[in-house]
Formats: sequence, C-alpha cells, structure tokens
Amino acid sequence: MAIKEIVGLQYGDEGKGRASHFEAKNASIVIRSTGGCNAGHTVVANGVKYAMHLLPSSIIRPEVLSMIGPGVVADLKVLSEEIEQMRKANIQVEKSNFVISQRTHITLPHHRELDRLYEALRNNKVGTTGRGVGPTYEEKARRTNLRMIDLFLDEKDLKQKIELNLKNYNILSTNVNEQIQLGKIEAEKFLEITVEEEYNYCMKYKEIVKDFIADTYPIIEKAIEENKLIIIEGAQSFYLDNDHGDYPMTTSSNPNASGTVSGAGIGPTLVNEVIGVIKTYTSRVGNGPFITEQKNEIGDTIRELGHEYGTTTGRPRRTGWLDLVMIKHAKIPSGLTSLCVNHLDTIGNLPEIKVCIGYEYKGQTITNVPIDKENCKPIYKEFKGGWKTESATTFEELPKEAQDYIHFIEEFVGVPVKYIGVGADEKRTIVK
Ligand code: GDP
Ligand code: MG
Repeated sequence: MAIKEIVGLQYGDEGKGRASHFEAKNASIVIRSTGGCNAGHTVVANGVKYAMHLLPSSIIRPEVLSMIGPGVVADLKVLSEEIEQMRKANIQVEKSNFVISQRTHITLPHHRELDRLYEALRNNKVGTTGRGVGPTYEEKARRTNLRMIDLFLDEKDLKQKIELNLKNYNILSTNVNEQIQLGKIEAEKFLEITVEEEYNYCMKYKEIVKDFIADTYPIIEKAIEENKLIIIEGAQSFYLDNDHGDYPMTTSSNPNASGTVSGAGIGPTLVNEVIGVIKTYTSRVGNGPFITEQKNEIGDTIRELGHEYGTTTGRPRRTGWLDLVMIKHAKIPSGLTSLCVNHLDTIGNLPEIKVCIGYEYKGQTITNVPIDKENCKPIYKEFKGGWKTESATTFEELPKEAQDYIHFIEEFVGVPVKYIGVGADEKRTIVK
C-alpha cells in the first residue's frame, strides 16, 4: 500500500497537475482535496494539452478513479462544463472513473458576486480569481452552505437551505448597492439573486453531476485494504495557505500537506510520501509579497519561456528567481519526503541563473522566513546556465551544470529530488 501526496511549495502553478498525472500511471485513485475552480492545471499527454480546474488530472487515465474530496468547493456550472469539455475531447468521464464526495461544498452564483463585493470593500486587494471560492469557504464555516448531498433534497427543503445561504449576500448587496448609488463605493452594481434562480441553477447542473455523487470513505477504505496506490493531488500551495502562507494574501483553504490529506479524508499516519513540487523559478498570481520578484527583462524572459499566464484567468503571472529559503522553510510544516523540480529545461535557457539562499533582514543575514517578508532582501547564489535537456532521459544524461544545480537544491533544502521536469509533456519527467 502506498499513499502519496503532491503539494505545491511556492505560490501555485509549480506543475502539480503534471507531477500527479505522472504518478497516476500506477494509481488506483487520485483525489483532489482542497480549493475550487480558482485552481488550474495543465497536463500535456500524448501531445494533447488539457486544462483543468476541478477535475483531478488523472481524469485522462480512464483506468484510474478520479475523486473530488470533501475539502473541495465546486462550482456546479464550471464542473459540469469541464465534464462536458472532457467528453468532447473523447475523455471518459463515467461513474466508473469519477466520483464526487457527498460532502463537497457547492459554489453558487451569489458566491462570485460576493467575491467581487469583498474586493470592492477592501483597499489592499487580494487579487482573487473572482470565482467565488473564498465566499464559499466562508459560508461553509458559517454553516449555511450547500453540499452535493443537498441536491437530492425535495424542492421545499432545498429552497429553504438556499434561502439561508443567500441571506447574507442579499443583505450585503442591497446595502452596498445603496452606497454605490450614493457614490460612496466605486463598483459595478451587484446582482439581485433570487432563491428561484439558484434553485434552477442547482437543478440544471444536478442532471450532469448527480450520478457521480457518492460516499467516498468506503471507496478509500477498500483501496487501502487492497494495498492500492492512492495519490492526493494538492491545489494552490504552501505560501497561499491561510494559516502558513502570506496572510491575508492567501487562499481561503488549507492547501498545505496536512490540509490536503484532511480534505481527502485520509489520516496523516497513512501517508507514505509527501512530494513537494517546485519549479526552477517562482511565479505568483495576485498580490502579496514576492522577495525574488523580477519586474524587469529577466522576469519578462522567464514569463515568456515558462508560458506564465494563468490557466484560470489568463493573467500574466508575476515572475522571479527560485527562493530556496522559502522551500526549506516549508520542509517541516509539510513533512516533505522528496521534491519534484519542474522547468529545468526552461531555466537552462538563461546564461546566468540566480537562486535565493538567504535574506538581509533588519541588518542581519537570515535563512528562515519571517512573518514580515516585505522586510527581506534576497541574497543570491549564481549558477552558470545555458544548458540543454532535450536529449536527457536519465539524471546522468543531464549536463553537468544542471546536475550541480539539482544537487545544490537537495543539499540546501535537505530533501532528495525524486522527479525532474524537463518539458511540459509528462513523458519529459526524469526519475532520479
Ligand atoms: P499546477 O497548478 O501546479 O498544476 O501547475 P499549472 O499547470 O498551472 O502550471 C504549470 C505549467 O508549466 C503548465 O503549463 C505545465 O504544462 C508546464 N510545465 C510543468 N512542468 C514543466 C516542465 O518541466 N517544463 C516545461 N517546459 N513546462 C512544464
Ligand atoms: Mg495552476
């Protein structure tokens, strides 16, 4: 038996989807367990590019059971469209290979409006993807939100639940719309949303999702009893974690390694491997501290080379050098057992590569991550780049400079590098 989890250690978009798709080859179940349709992952398999938000990347392997766990919040429309899109691309999405937990929370249209409303009310914008994910988690914590199981309630009971869930939005939006009218808040007016509309929304998409909704615990228990391989596919990352990341510029859930297993419904002692995914540079979507950011030609070059534009929003991602202090800091709270380093091909295009190995902080040199990251200035180590990875299929076949670079990462972080990405296609994965 083995349970492996794959988590991001930077600001997301490290290539977790790709790593998970690679691992899924031998798996019986792959579970997506946190976040919602604010996440996006791209998998290139057999020359075809698949962009996903809510479906686990394993969906393109019909022999694997892809699961959406209790910790996820799912927008019914986005999920339904993704299912249909996959089917159009001849990807099997059937009861036999896809399950949604009865406990998965539902994102409704008013959650998107709330996302926009909260951003309008604050001065320091989070820069959320505006997909209603934060407000869904908020209403989950408020204990008014709908879960997948609620789609099976009779009309009267479901409408009652929707009414309770909508109440907060209706009070707030009426109030804020008045302020907009008076010129006190600058924003587009917020939509009036009725119980009837959200009920119809639920019924429309229930048709597409209903067959997949199930109790996930017995399925996981059986797989564990049968010694099957289970992969838990993380979303977002350690530094976007609401407890351990750059609060308040974080996501509204706990995508750290512990939150990720919790969201799947698997206890920490059952997890054999925690694979932390990083890339050879850093990118960030949205606002918040970014110590190694390069708002210059280098950053632009990295963005172009790495195609750093959001899967969900198409926004250009902020880019900068790899910050190993951040990765090392995430080692203990993540319980890392290995690293997957992606984009070794991408960074090799640069003649000189920098890696952050410490910070200047209030007159001192430090190698930990303080809570006030904005007071840190990076200290870099330089590497000679200009390497090519195209012909390499093993670690030994990589150019010496690229090998040294990987060895340095391992030594600095104190965790072995197990996988290396040398291209977007999952076949371009080197197992070290
Ligand atoms: P996720 O959110 O962590 O799953 O990552 P995304 O899929 O959002 O972003 C990673 C992007 O980098 C995707 O477009 C991948 O196809 C691409 N990618 C991942 N690993 C590599 C790699 O080793 N080399 C190259 N060139 N591209 C990669
Ligand atoms: Mg992504």
